[in-house]
Amino acid sequence: MLCPKCGRDQQDGLEECRGCGVIFSKIPVEVTVQVPVEKEAQSEKTSSNAAGRGPGRPAVTAGGLLQALLILLVAIGALGYFAFNGVGTAYVERKQTDFMNDVMNKVAQDAVQQYQIAQRNGDSMDVCVQAGFVVAAFLQAHDESNYAKWKDIERSECRAAGLKR
Ligand SMILES: [Zn+2]
Repeated sequence: MLCPKCGRDQQDGLEECRGCGVIFSKIPVEVTVQVPVEKEAQSEKTSSNAAGRGPGRPAVTAGGLLQALLILLVAIGALGYFAFNGVGTAYVERKQTDFMNDVMNKVAQDAVQQYQIAQRNGDSMDVCVQAGFVVAAFLQAHDESNYAKWKDIERSECRAAGLKR
């Protein structure tokens, strides 16, 4: 058998090692008990760090993964923050405002089209209502001159429909 301590190969059935003098009957006990005790103590430490994620080795890996993920997220967040500042907040904001203006102008143009359809086919009440939508759309688009213009149109259309606005 091989001595677990010094590795010397020797005859089976000996009580102690011929090389280092260790007593074999004590070694298995020391090896099998000491190591798990150490491991258990370690995993208990780690699982208490991982805030009650249960004992045992899975908690160690889960805690480690969680920590790695957290570090990664922080790193990505920091990177994104600097990239965002680098590109420029103003640029992003302007892009968003342009987009919103585009949408609002499209909405207003659609409302005008619907008003024209109502004018051609609908009754005066529909025309009054559609003119009101156009007014609301130009208000949303912050188009003051068109808002004023369409407010007048709405007023006269709704008066024609028998409504006072
Ligand atoms: Zn030995």
